[in-house]
Amino acid sequence: MKALVKQKTEAGIWMDEVPFPSIGHNDVLIKIVKTAICGTDIHIYNWDAWAEKTIPVPMAIGHEFVGIVTEIGSEVRGLKEGDRVSAEGHITCGHCRNCRAGKRHLCRNTIGVGVNRPGCFAEYISVPASNVFRVPASIEDDIAAILDPFGNAAHTALSFDLVGEDVLITGAGPIGIMAVAIARHVGARFVVITDVNDYRLALARQMGASAAINVTQASIVDTERELGMKEGFDVGLEMSGNIQAFRDMLQVMNYGGKVAILGIPTGEVSLDLTRIILKGLVLKGIYGREMFETWYKMTSMLQSHLDITPVITHRFSVDDFQQAFDVMRSGMSGKVILDWQ
Ligand code: NAD
Ligand code: ZN
Repeated sequence: MKALVKQKTEAGIWMDEVPFPSIGHNDVLIKIVKTAICGTDIHIYNWDAWAEKTIPVPMAIGHEFVGIVTEIGSEVRGLKEGDRVSAEGHITCGHCRNCRAGKRHLCRNTIGVGVNRPGCFAEYISVPASNVFRVPASIEDDIAAILDPFGNAAHTALSFDLVGEDVLITGAGPIGIMAVAIARHVGARFVVITDVNDYRLALARQMGASAAINVTQASIVDTERELGMKEGFDVGLEMSGNIQAFRDMLQVMNYGGKVAILGIPTGEVSLDLTRIILKGLVLKGIYGREMFETWYKMTSMLQSHLDITPVITHRFSVDDFQQAFDVMRSGMSGKVILDWQ
């Protein structure tokens, strides 16, 4: 079958033939309908230091998708051929303490689809049935293909109570942009987002941001004054991976503020710990999505009129994958969809 394969230990991605996946007793086979490109796929494309030490070559990559179940393993219950599904890309061990306690997102033995094992940029993928999520009919394919990153946004944004709170989001990448929409949807007061990219800040405004600031041109403190905020932000969502953005966030948090950290910095970082202590800040690291609480929350929000469609800015046939990767790498995009049909 056809797949987008990381074939060589250099920048790039290649369309190639790969073996058809086999399924075990507890797996399902899924025919891919649409996929989306993640920042992780760009790290793999660029073949940075993380990719070099993580990704086996050659391997089909990708983990954001929607597809149709075409075969189920003999032990699988609750799924059938023809079901339209996406899947949780973190495959967990099932036997560690957290897995057994129902906290699969904290599994110490997590394996990543399209990172540690073959991914969804292919005509078919095999995944454990316990990772599969049936998509409600009311959710269109393009949105169903981005439930994974939407889930990162939901997991982070719903970590703390946002009702009536002033929220600062650093980083208007696709995930930050979706977090704006979620914060609005669940009843935050002011939702301020920062980035250094005007294209993405414009998308964030479309999603309902009270203010979308280019930090190379304007300051968060000035924006607070303009909005009439007096005491700083109640909740911070770090979604840039940029340490200066995080430091700036810590400056403008209110005493007792709560900060959820999704963005992954490139290396070790130094922070003003005294400020965190004296302000009594609560910091929480976020990894992946809660299985499957986050998935239920996000589909329910979509079914109660949360609209995240503006985050999808480009759609390509898979034959034009190079163009799709180029636009994603340019930074002048939100989510980019690849159609496999
Ligand atoms: P992205 O790289 O598309 O977005 C990051 C944004 O931060 C970019 O738009 C960039 O311009 C912006 N930025 C750079 N410097 C900034 C600064 N000084 N101030 C404000 N913004 C700045 O990434 P994404 O796909 O939206 O993901 C967001 C972050 O979350 C990334 O760091 C990614 O690696 C991380 N991530 C973590 C998990 C997890 O499970 N923890 C999952 C997915 C993504
Ligand atoms: Zn586990």
